[in-house]
Amino acid sequence: MTVWNDYQGMGEEATKTIQTRLQIASGERSWLHDARLASREIFNQTIRLKQQGYNRTEIQREVDRDDFLRNNKCAVVGKALQTWNSYQSLKDWWENQDDPDGGKPTPPSTDKSGVYPLVMAHAEGYRLTVDDDTNRVRFRISPKPYKKVKGHLRGEPDAMDELRDAITSDKIDVGQAELLYRDGVYYLHVTVTREFDVPEPDTSDTLVGVDINERNVALTALDRETMRTKGTLVLDYGRVKEERQRYHTITTRCQEHGKTSIHRKLGDDEERFTEWVLHRLSRAVVEFSEQFSNPVIVFEDMTGIRDEIKYGTYMNRRLHKLPFHKFETFVSYKATWREIPMDTVDAYYNSKTCSCCGERGSRQGRRFRCTNDECVVVQDHADRNASVNIAWRETLKLDGNESNYRTHKTQPQVRLVRLSGSGRVSRPTSSRSLAEQGVLAHG
Ligand SMILES: [Zn+2]
Repeated sequence: MTVWNDYQGMGEEATKTIQTRLQIASGERSWLHDARLASREIFNQTIRLKQQGYNRTEIQREVDRDDFLRNNKCAVVGKALQTWNSYQSLKDWWENQDDPDGGKPTPPSTDKSGVYPLVMAHAEGYRLTVDDDTNRVRFRISPKPYKKVKGHLRGEPDAMDELRDAITSDKIDVGQAELLYRDGVYYLHVTVTREFDVPEPDTSDTLVGVDINERNVALTALDRETMRTKGTLVLDYGRVKEERQRYHTITTRCQEHGKTSIHRKLGDDEERFTEWVLHRLSRAVVEFSEQFSNPVIVFEDMTGIRDEIKYGTYMNRRLHKLPFHKFETFVSYKATWREIPMDTVDAYYNSKTCSCCGERGSRQGRRFRCTNDECVVVQDHADRNASVNIAWRETLKLDGNESNYRTHKTQPQVRLVRLSGSGRVSRPTSSRSLAEQGVLAHG
């Protein structure tokens, strides 16, 4: 589960997607449409062949076609196999649950008709250049052999700057791009890969504890030297949960009426919505952390939790309700991009321990209650309390600090921020622009 370990250390790579729109100057839009239809057929075929046990090379040969660039074909097959692999690992994870209760992952469908993103490798299926005179990013897409669609890209100014950097610098790699279409507009999502120097957790000055549960994400930043609280933030996504609940109800109703097509559509929407929420939350975690000097972002290690009998069903439910693993991955990914290290600590009673005296207390809804008469803390925001404990466990890990105890009795006021559920994302939007829309409103 410690995904970020792959990224840590010197010269690690991370990939990012830059979202742009096509401004087409020449070539036929219908070529792009045809190529997306062909992509769907290749995707379906790939999954079917994979299910029959074909390997990549055999699949490449089977799905070959005249109306499609060979290089694009390889890219689409690669994308389909990637989808297949993530289904496999999700299924493995699900089957290893103590009490798998519904929500069994289903294999990628092979009977969908319509379109699929056209996946292309840079300098093969598509090419980007920066126009010296206009500073525009020009594109050339080859949707089929001997056919080219040309023009320039539009996007958020910051995103376009990043893209120009990537095209002109040899330190940043322009990778695959995906061509998508929504509401009359063609979008090009371009991946760029860069090397990062993510410091080791041990070099950090600020420990940011992250507690996640079914209502919110609580963050506390502690100074490693003094163990004073530098900042604390609770991100409430309760409304988002209601929205998911609503989707679920509609989906169930549709299933009852056998309207599988609507069901599928809603399923896709929900997935996109959840992804959007995770992006917003993970972005907020990283932005919170980077305001402090040399932060390390600390998560509870959820892998051991399933063996922890005392947590039992409560924690299992936590794991089920939230795509926790995905959230972690999103955070680690954004953190790598900002060269912020991550670490994990044992998830041992973090939500039931008083962050002031270290005694076991009790949790009542949103409040944590300390039952130690000697302790000055009577009650605290329960999730913040847990996030303080997570940060404390990190000093234990880094410095062997077992001092008894702990943070200072007066914690700063919890700043509560609500993620509202207006996330019916009808078009792909960059996370930067979402941030600018101020989706995070003060509660
Ligand atoms: Zn206490």
